[in-house]
Amino acid sequence: MKVDRELCVGCGACLNLCPRLAIRFIDDKSFIDQVSCIECGTCRAGCGVDAILCDCRFPEILLLNLTSDTYGKGERS
Ligand code: SF4
Ligand code: SF4
Repeated sequence: MKVDRELCVGCGACLNLCPRLAIRFIDDKSFIDQVSCIECGTCRAGCGVDAILCDCRFPEILLLNLTSDTYGKGERS
């Protein structure tokens, strides 16, 4: 998830909703740590002005893993 800082009004409602403690305030608006976020959507559901957007990183990560042959299964006969 990412915060649209133009839309964020700095209410702080999302801060305590995150199970990963990935949200913090920078310059009076919320910011999501992309490494900690697991894209559960809890913060997005709690934002009254719809300032939290899904950037859908996980499908891309899954695709990368599927094509990288991580476990070498494609090499075995
Ligand atoms: S709940 Fe929405 S408006 Fe409030 S601080 Fe979080 S992102 Fe900003
Ligand atoms: S999507 Fe979930 S893990 Fe990511 S910032 Fe929001 S509440 Fe935290």
